[in-house]
Amino acid sequence: MPAVASRPPPDAGPMAMPSPGASSLGEFGRIARYFAPLASSMPGAAGLTDDCATIEVPPGRMLVAKTDTIVDTIHLVGDEPADLVARKALRVNLSDLAAKGAVPLAYLLSLALPASVDDAWVARFAQGLAADQAEFGLGLIGGDSDRTTGPFVVTVAMFGTVPAGAIPRRGDAKPGDDIYVSGTIGDGALGLKAVRGQLPGLSQEARGFLADRYRLPRPRLALGQALAGIVHAAMDVSDGLVGDLAHICKHSGLAAALRWENVPLSPAARQAVAAEPRLREAVLGGGDDYELLLTAAPDAASRLAAASSRAGVPLTRIGTMAAGQGVRVVDADGRDVTPKVGGYRHA
Ligand SMILES: [Mg+2]
Repeated sequence: MPAVASRPPPDAGPMAMPSPGASSLGEFGRIARYFAPLASSMPGAAGLTDDCATIEVPPGRMLVAKTDTIVDTIHLVGDEPADLVARKALRVNLSDLAAKGAVPLAYLLSLALPASVDDAWVARFAQGLAADQAEFGLGLIGGDSDRTTGPFVVTVAMFGTVPAGAIPRRGDAKPGDDIYVSGTIGDGALGLKAVRGQLPGLSQEARGFLADRYRLPRPRLALGQALAGIVHAAMDVSDGLVGDLAHICKHSGLAAALRWENVPLSPAARQAVAAEPRLREAVLGGGDDYELLLTAAPDAASRLAAASSRAGVPLTRIGTMAAGQGVRVVDADGRDVTPKVGGYRHA
C-alpha cells in the first residue's frame, strides 16, 4: 500500500472509499452514487454499511473462495474501457469457480486508483460490474479503495458454493484418465496478438472474433456445475493449456500426452495457424483462454457428453494421463511439438 494512501475512518464501513482520483463527488458521494447500488441483497452484506460482511452457506453446501488481481498495463493492453475492466476482473475469478463446479454468490472489491481516474471512469466501471452482477447472479458485499502512484489495480475476491464434500483438485487426476478441454483453445493468446496488430494477414472478422475472446472471458459456470461428480481433476486454462496441464501433472504425480490435431481451434485460430504455423506455440502455451481443463475416467465419456450438451458448451478429448511426469504434445506424424514456454505466468 502506498505511503500516500488515505484510509477511511474506522467506522466508515467496508465500502468507505476515500476519493482516490479526480472527483467532483467526494469520497462518500462516489460510494453512494456508484457502489451502494451494487450492494448484495444478502442480509450479511448489511447494505455495505458495516465493517465486515457475513456469508450464510445453505445446508449441505460449502463456500469456495478465490481472489485475482488485474493491474493496468500488466494484465490489460491499456485501451480497455472501464466497464470491460470491471467485467474482466469479475470473470477471471468466476472462471476459477467454474472449474470447481461452484455457483457464484458474492464478491469483495478492492481498488487502487491513480489520480488520473475520474468520476466518469468510475461510473463506467460500476456499469460493467452491474451488467455482470445481473448476468451471473452476484452481489457486492464489501470493498476498499486507495490511491496509487502507479497504474490502477483491481482486486476481486469471489465467493461461491458447491455441494459439501470434495471439489475437483489439480491433484485428483488418475492414470488412464482422458483429458478434456471446453470450447476452443488459443483464442485468448491470438486475440492479444490481434489487439496488438500482430495478425495483419487475418480477415477482419477473424481478428474481431479473437480480440473479443481475449477481452471478455466467458466463464464456463453452467458446464462446471454440470460436470460435478463426474470429473477427477479440473482447473481453468488461464495461463496456457500446456502450463496449466503441467500443474495437474505435477500435483497428480502423472504425465500428460496430448495430440495437437485433437486440440479444438476456432475457425479464426485455425486460419491464423494455417497462415503462420509457428502460432501453434501461442495456442498451446499462451494464456487467457478461460476454458475448463479436466480429466475423467474413460467410462465417464457419455456422462461428460450429456453434461456438455446440457450446458451448451463443447467438450473435446485431447489426450490421456499416464505414469511419468510432464506434458508432451505430438502432431499427427508423431513429432514432439511441445511448446518450450510452459505457460504465461501472471505476476
Ligand atoms: Mg485458474
